[in-house]
Amino acid sequence: MADHQRPGDTTRKGYGAQHQQLRAQLAPAVALGTVPCARCGYLIAPGELWDLGHKDGTNKREYSGPEHRTCNRAAGAAAREAARMADPAPRPMTRW
Ligand SMILES: [Zn+2]
Repeated sequence: MADHQRPGDTTRKGYGAQHQQLRAQLAPAVALGTVPCARCGYLIAPGELWDLGHKDGTNKREYSGPEHRTCNRAAGAAAREAARMADPAPRPMTRW
């Protein structure tokens, strides 16, 4: 992906005024480093790039909240990996 990390490029991606407005509301809190990422749960550090994420499965109608940009961009694979780590599958080697 040839996507350089440039703040303020979200308007190019089809996000509307509501998204921009909500993001602007959240920005001061995120800038303080007090807001956890909606994906990984770790705090977003001051100055760290972040995106306003959408809940999975809502067709981008519901916002989940601020997310690390890296988490947001890697949402698919990372979310699956995190879920796997947090919720281990049954042991495949168990035999009766
Ligand atoms: Zn994160």
